[in-house]
Amino acid sequence: MTSVVVVGGGLAGLVAARRLAGDGVDVTLLERRGELGGRVRSIHRDGYTFDRGFQVLFTEYPAVRAELDLDALDLRYFTPGATIARRGHRSTLADPVRNPGSFLQTVLNRDVTLGDKLRTVALRGDLVAKSAGDIFDGQDTSIEAYLREKGFSRRFVENFAAPFYGGITLDRSLSSSSAVFEYTFKMLAEGRIAVPAEGMGAIPDHLAARAASAGATIERDSEVTAVDGHEDGATVEVGSETLSTDAVVVATDPKTARELTGVEAIPTEGRGCVTQYFSGPERRTLDTGRKLILNADDDRPNTVAPMGAVAPEYTPGDEQLFAATVLGDPDDSDDELASAVLDALASWYPEHRFDDVTLRHTSRIPFAQFAQPPGFRTSLPAVDAPDGDVYLAGDYTQWSSIQGALRSGQVVVDEVRRALGQ
Ligand SMILES: Cc1cc2nc3c(=O)[nH]c(=O)nc-3n(C[C@H](O)[C@H](O)[C@H](O)COP(=O)(O)OP(=O)(O)OC[C@H]3O[C@@H](n4cnc5c(N)ncnc54)[C@H](O)[C@@H]3O)c2cc1C
Repeated sequence: MTSVVVVGGGLAGLVAARRLAGDGVDVTLLERRGELGGRVRSIHRDGYTFDRGFQVLFTEYPAVRAELDLDALDLRYFTPGATIARRGHRSTLADPVRNPGSFLQTVLNRDVTLGDKLRTVALRGDLVAKSAGDIFDGQDTSIEAYLREKGFSRRFVENFAAPFYGGITLDRSLSSSSAVFEYTFKMLAEGRIAVPAEGMGAIPDHLAARAASAGATIERDSEVTAVDGHEDGATVEVGSETLSTDAVVVATDPKTARELTGVEAIPTEGRGCVTQYFSGPERRTLDTGRKLILNADDDRPNTVAPMGAVAPEYTPGDEQLFAATVLGDPDDSDDELASAVLDALASWYPEHRFDDVTLRHTSRIPFAQFAQPPGFRTSLPAVDAPDGDVYLAGDYTQWSSIQGALRSGQVVVDEVRRALGQ
C-alpha cells in the first residue's frame, strides 16, 4: 500500500490527508502542536469563544464549497456593509443590492462620494463576470493604484478601502496585490462572510473528522525536525524516529517549510495583527448590528467586529463581546493596546460609557499571512520544488487565505497522484 506522510495539521494538511486517504493511501499526518488548525484555531474559556485573531469564512470560496459542509458548521453571518467610524462621527455603508432597506442610508452617506457608489456597482458587475483564473493570472498592481486608476475618490480609499481591505490583507497602506482585492471583492459580491457558531476552530475540527473517517492517522504533539527526499521515496524525522515513506507533503507554515525543504522561493515575509476581545455587561449593539466597524482615522484598532451580535454562542448569557484588531506586531502591552481601543470606541460613541467593559483575551499573531505585493504569484514555489518525493502544500503555494490553503491541499494531492502513478 502506498504511504504518504503529511507534515502539518493546518487547513492545507488536513485537506491533503483526507483526499489521499480517500484514494486508499496509507496517510499519517504529523502536527507539532497538541491541537490542529494552525492559523485557524479558537480558545474556549469561561463560556466565551475567542478566535486566535479575528478572521472570517468567505462562503463563496470554491474550495470552501468543495471541502466543507457549511450546514454542519452552523454558520453565523455578518451583515454585508460596514459602519465607518471616526472621532465624533459614524455612518453606515450598506450593500443596497443585498439590503434594499438601507438604500437611502447608503445614498446619503458622505464618507464616500456618489461617484464611488456608482463605481462600486459597476465594479461589482465586472468582477462577478470575471473568472478567478483571469483575476490571478492577469495584470497586477497595488490595491491603492488600482482604485485610483478606476477613479475612486480619496475619501473612498481612506474611509472605506484602507480599513476594510487593510483588514483583509493586514496592510492598511493598500500596497498589496490588486488580484487579492479583485478576488475577495468578487467573493463578497457573490457570497457572505460568517463564523461557525462554535468558532473558527470548528473548521479544522470538521476537516480532521473527515480525514480520520477517510482513514488518515492524525498524530498531534509530533514535531518533524527533518525531511529528506530520495529518488524513490522520502524520510521524515520526528522525535528520535526516522519514518520511511513513498512521499511527504510539507504543509507547515511557510517559514518552517523553507527550513525543512530548503526551497528559497517559499515566501517568509509576514503580516501580523493583534486581536483583543472585550466583553460588556449587556448586549449593547454598538449601533452597528452585525456589521463590521471600520476605523477611518487610524489602525488602533483597524476594525471592531461585534462578535456577540453576530454569534451569540461566542458569549455566556447575554454579554456583549467585540473583537478589536490592531494591525502589525506592536510592542505595546496588552493594557496599552486595550486602552487605545477603548479611547477610540469612546470617541466614536460619545453617548456610550465604556468603563464597564472588560478585556477578556489578547491574541498576538506576528505571522498571520505572508506578504502579497503586486505580482507575488509569479515567484511562488512549484508544488514539486523540493528534491525527491517531497511536495509542498500550504497557503504560500497559492495566496494567503482559507481558500489558498484549502486549494493547495487539493493541488498537492493531484501532484502526488501523478508522481506516484496512482
Ligand atoms: C489573524 C488571522 C486572520 C486571517 N484572516 C483571514 C480571513 O479573514 N479569511 C481568510 O480566508 N484567511 C484569513 N487568514 C489566513 C488563513 O487563516 C491562512 O492563510 C490559512 O489558515 C493557512 O493555512 P495553512 O494550512 O496553509 O498553514 P497553517 O495554518 O500555518 O498550518 C501549518 C501547520 O503546520 C504545523 N507545523 C509547523 N511546523 C511543523 C513541524 N515542524 N512539524 C509538524 N507540524 C508543523 C503548524 O503547527 C500548523 O498547524 C488569516 C490568518 C490569521 C492568522
